Amino acid sequence: MIPNKQANIGSINMTDQELAIKIRGLKKTYKAEGATAEKIALKGVDLSIPKGSIFGLLGPNGAGKSTTINIIAGVVDKTAGSVEVWGFDTIKDTRNAKANIGIVPQEVHIDAYFTPFEILELYAGYYGIPKEERRSDEILKAMRLEEQRDAYTRFLSGGMKRRLLVGKAMVHNPPILVLDEPTAGVDIEIRRGMWDFLRELNKQGITIILTTHYLEEAETLCRNIAIIDGGEIVENTSMKGLLAQLDGETFVLDLAPHHNDITLDNISSRMIDDHTLEIDLQKPQNLNTVFEKLSAQHVEVLSMRNKSNRLEALFVNLIEHNVSRKKAK
Ligand code: ADP
Repeated sequence: MIPNKQANIGSINMTDQELAIKIRGLKKTYKAEGATAEKIALKGVDLSIPKGSIFGLLGPNGAGKSTTINIIAGVVDKTAGSVEVWGFDTIKDTRNAKANIGIVPQEVHIDAYFTPFEILELYAGYYGIPKEERRSDEILKAMRLEEQRDAYTRFLSGGMKRRLLVGKAMVHNPPILVLDEPTAGVDIEIRRGMWDFLRELNKQGITIILTTHYLEEAETLCRNIAIIDGGEIVENTSMKGLLAQLDGETFVLDLAPHHNDITLDNISSRMIDDHTLEIDLQKPQNLNTVFEKLSAQHVEVLSMRNKSNRLEALFVNLIEHNVSRKKAK
């Protein structure tokens, strides 16, 4: 037996058989028509996406997320490197690669005069699925659109339209579903509904890959993530692994009026205004020490809160680090 090649995802070693998507050395250069300059969008991306995961591809605008997704989907040609979908090379075995993936585009464009059932039937026809093998009613049930089966899509709510788009991507029963910014521009209620819905699909065994710029979305949904910036992967790890990098925490303390300067020795701190103190604690520093020191200086703490979105700070830090590394080159 030939041993499987190993791919490294954070600390987990995975065999090729365990990967839904395997990308190696992926490069993309866009040549705008008539322009002399080329635009390098991907500079050699390696990505390993495990089967059964909910995987988040994160990054700022222009980082290369859509380019990566579009190459996986087979709608943009790569310049160099290789992409395998469920073990099938997207160039050498395009048919099988496409059969194993469903793509949900970012823009919500659905023919308003068709019903959800008709749209799914049309798509199944497009994929060449014979009538007796179509699963339109089953998909409508899974998308929670049974009641809207025969309604004009223009009467569907925003959340329903998005679920119908997911249904469209699943007519050929692919094991991988890719969503480009699935909750961009929708309100928090629809967003939460979509998260529940994607979790359900994942429980049924579908590998879910999504791009997002909402860190909360990645934190709530994704088991594994990659951060892309300037066409390069700057982090590819489990969400747990990423959060473990956050070994420091920042607290905001509201202080009673006081007239003395505060000294906290080796604890990093700053006064934001005359009654707000921000402190950064690194393990093993703890809050008790801070309270003891403040109390010894006769400073009373009225309230305290954890400064939110530590993940945001880490994300910004990773990207800034990537920028400064490039500048140093
Ligand atoms: P993201 O999805 O992360 O916002 P994209 O993959 O859309 O990033 O874009 C990556 C880079 O490639 C950007 O600099 C963008 O301007 C450029 N780009 C994307 N599509 C094209 C195109 N069709 N022609 C030229 N440049 C493009």
